[in-house]
Amino acid sequence: MKVIKRFIAGAVCPRCGEMDCIRTFRDEEREYKECVRCDYEDSMRLDGEPDQQMEELETRVNQDKKPEIEPDAQPLLFTSNPGAKRKDH
Ligand SMILES: [Zn+2]
Repeated sequence: MKVIKRFIAGAVCPRCGEMDCIRTFRDEEREYKECVRCDYEDSMRLDGEPDQQMEELETRVNQDKKPEIEPDAQPLLFTSNPGAKRKDH
């Protein structure tokens, strides 16, 4: 299968900032973009589905964003089972 790479007119490389150096090509699954002047490379799925790798990365980032506990917040004390302490002895 012959891969046809086409330059994108007016496209600016987000890494090196050069214009008209981005070219694009695709295979069965993905569309790629690459810069001929630096190492910039990007790809996206043709069906619009989020990249599996990207999805995992975003999930991990979201997990890091836990709500911060205010320093002066009081912990909630649950005393619904006061007899539990007596059973331990
Ligand atoms: Zn570049």
